Amino acid sequence: MDDIDCAAERIDAFNKVALQMVLARTSGPASSGVCKACGSLIEPERLRVTPHARHCTECAEELEAESLRKNRCGPR
Ligand SMILES: [Zn+2]
Repeated sequence: MDDIDCAAERIDAFNKVALQMVLARTSGPASSGVCKACGSLIEPERLRVTPHARHCTECAEELEAESLRKNRCGPR
């Protein structure tokens, strides 16, 4: 696999994550306001931006980073 293929795969993976975020933002029931991962209250500012949020900012960032890592092409 050359660099162009690798870059194309990364863009594809990023687009998938971005699409999921858009879909999640525009669909689904409102959040319970409690993070599913750590059980703490989700920040009101976050709920205003993403009313369906299931995770607090900290956990959401971790989950996003995790999914980006999984989508990366090839082990490092
Ligand atoms: Zn959390």
